[in-house]
Amino acid sequence: MSRFWSQVARDLTPYVPGEQPKIANLIKLNTNEHPCPPSPRVVEAIRAEVGDDGARLRLYPDPNADLLKQAIAARHGVTTREIFVGNGSDEVLAHAFQALLKHDAPLLFPDITYSFYPVYCGLYGVDHVAVPLATDFSIDPADYIDRDVQPGGIIFPNPNAPTGRLLALDAVERIVAGNPDSLVVVDEAYIDFGGATAIPLTQKHDNLLVIHTLSKSRSLAGLRVGFAVGHPDLIEALERVKNSFNSYPLDRLAIVGAVAAIEDEAYFQQCCAAVIASRESLVGQLTEIGFDVLPSAANFIFARHPQRDAGELAQALRAESIIVRHFRLPRIDQFLRITVGSDEQCSSLVAALRRLLA
Ligand SMILES: *Cc1c(COP(=O)(O)O)cnc(C)c1O
Repeated sequence: MSRFWSQVARDLTPYVPGEQPKIANLIKLNTNEHPCPPSPRVVEAIRAEVGDDGARLRLYPDPNADLLKQAIAARHGVTTREIFVGNGSDEVLAHAFQALLKHDAPLLFPDITYSFYPVYCGLYGVDHVAVPLATDFSIDPADYIDRDVQPGGIIFPNPNAPTGRLLALDAVERIVAGNPDSLVVVDEAYIDFGGATAIPLTQKHDNLLVIHTLSKSRSLAGLRVGFAVGHPDLIEALERVKNSFNSYPLDRLAIVGAVAAIEDEAYFQQCCAAVIASRESLVGQLTEIGFDVLPSAANFIFARHPQRDAGELAQALRAESIIVRHFRLPRIDQFLRITVGSDEQCSSLVAALRRLLA
């Protein structure tokens, strides 16, 4: 703190991302990155954009990233006017909080959810109410419908983070249809690992915004690309905030890389299938050694061991160069969130856990 800090800076409680340790040979299962590299076409596209002398990097990128919007529109069967792109979905989410979710009535989100949501509420002064998940850690749509006060908005990840639990598409639609005068934002960061996207519902419901990222299922966390799909009026609000903040959130390399990733459907399907297969195998092995594992439709699992403290297990794994995520938060402090790594990484994890539990 110094006398130069604004009141805004003083009042913030920033988000703390999972660590990115600079240690070699680490088994990193703490931030839900994909174990496979991105499509080879991504690398080719970025190389081509850089060229021999990098001359194109002299020039600003397309502020509207039209090529990327076209690729996303084609992939999801919508028009480019229904798409907003940003520097990672975190930026898209941030703009949504400011442009669409800040109203007099409080915003609703689950008590156990992506911990960036309360941080954006703090940054933008958005009042919110945490709606408790059911005891099985599922979202009950009834909790979001027919409330005494019409919500200022609703946001939740599907599958939820850090639980991994999926809400069926008809339940998502019940929440959307039950709140025609509140915006519902569905953060589908993990939808490609086993869920059905709500994007088609945006054609029917003008109060639905669906947010995706290329960080998880497209193996591009390092490129920073996310997007939102919704009614053009919603997109316009996001564009207004974006164009009052940073005209060029996506650089030239991110635009061409993201287009190539989205166009390589076969590679994408193959990598998602590989993670899903590894997840099922990991769940089986962890159950065998006594863990309770929540049903996961994501590229991570949320598990607890009835006899062992989760914080201690996380520490012990760390001593073996395996990093998982542990949240010291009410209701979930006995769980570990473990990213589904390669089969080799999963085997090392299970072997280490077997030793620790012996
Ligand atoms: C990882 C994640 C994001 C952020 O993704 P980026 O596109 O990398 O910013 C958003 N929401 C949830 C629920 C996530 O887990």
